[in-house]
Amino acid sequence: MKLTFPDYFKEFSCIADKCTDTCCNGWDVVIDGESLEYYRNLGGDYGEKIRSLITVDGDGDSIFISENGRCPFLLDSGLCDMYINLGHGCLSRTCRIFPRFTNAFGSRAETGLSLSCPETARLIFESKNPVTFTTEDTDGGILPADFDPGLYFTLLKVRKTAINILQNRNFSINERLCAFLRYSELVQEFIDASEYEGAESIDASPLFGNTEYSPSRVKRALKGIFKAFEPMEFIDGNYPSVLSEAQTVDMQGFTADGILIEHLAVYFLHRYFITAAYDGRLLEKAIFAAVCTVVIMRISASRNDDFQTVSQKFSKEIEHSALNMEILVKAIRKSRCFSVENLINILSEKEK
Ligand code: SF4
Repeated sequence: MKLTFPDYFKEFSCIADKCTDTCCNGWDVVIDGESLEYYRNLGGDYGEKIRSLITVDGDGDSIFISENGRCPFLLDSGLCDMYINLGHGCLSRTCRIFPRFTNAFGSRAETGLSLSCPETARLIFESKNPVTFTTEDTDGGILPADFDPGLYFTLLKVRKTAINILQNRNFSINERLCAFLRYSELVQEFIDASEYEGAESIDASPLFGNTEYSPSRVKRALKGIFKAFEPMEFIDGNYPSVLSEAQTVDMQGFTADGILIEHLAVYFLHRYFITAAYDGRLLEKAIFAAVCTVVIMRISASRNDDFQTVSQKFSKEIEHSALNMEILVKAIRKSRCFSVENLINILSEKEK
């Protein structure tokens, strides 16, 4: 199998008790079938203890009973009691794999690290150089997946261009994000017409520049975008007011390094862009990447918090809630506030 991953991927190692926002807090751990079977048959007092801490949630999934949002195996020291007693191989699949994610395409797969993990966030943002990607042959077999192979191979080429746009440091990061959106819009037109070769041969160079800016349009679009977050569920009860402040913040004073924003946008691109091979909705993935980047920039500006921490917390609140992801994707599909024109206006605000 061919596996593609970003350059920081192999550097990851869980920092456990040194983690500032452990993944064992705030989420329910869903227990996969194989692990459940193992726990059911585990003998001794520890087997009894595990079974006493399992319940079934409203979706019918077996989960560990959390205590005030904390996994019952999370010790005050920040270490995992089950890991200490049984070892890494006995953890449920979610715990063994996190923060790694994989998008499977038959004999190929794309893997990466989730930004919601603070150690991943450190790895993503620490380099000053553009992120690179490597493809290696691995021992893994074919991973079943329902996708369009022709579109997948086109998307591999198109994604290279999209990454080049976001990493073109001759332009400001906002200009690059605008060009990325315009490019994705053009690619989508070719995908809709099943003209994959046309998508591969788009010249991206004229897509830079030509920003558009209407203050009233920006205000209306931001109102609609932030409204989409209102019905979401949040781990941090204060997150609705964080978002509310971000909606109206004046971005003129925002000074985060463009390299950090570039790394963030490339992270979202790497994680979601290629999944258009499953459903053909490439522009939706590009808009998702741009919206998440815009909202994180605005939160960072309004709170004067460091960009890395704001990005990590946003990822934990949004990317790791199936409900929140569904709400945001539905809003992108339905609301004109998320149009490419509106996002370009929002991104052009700082250029004026
Ligand atoms: S969030 Fe990351 S670093 Fe922290 S405990 Fe989980 S896997 Fe380890």
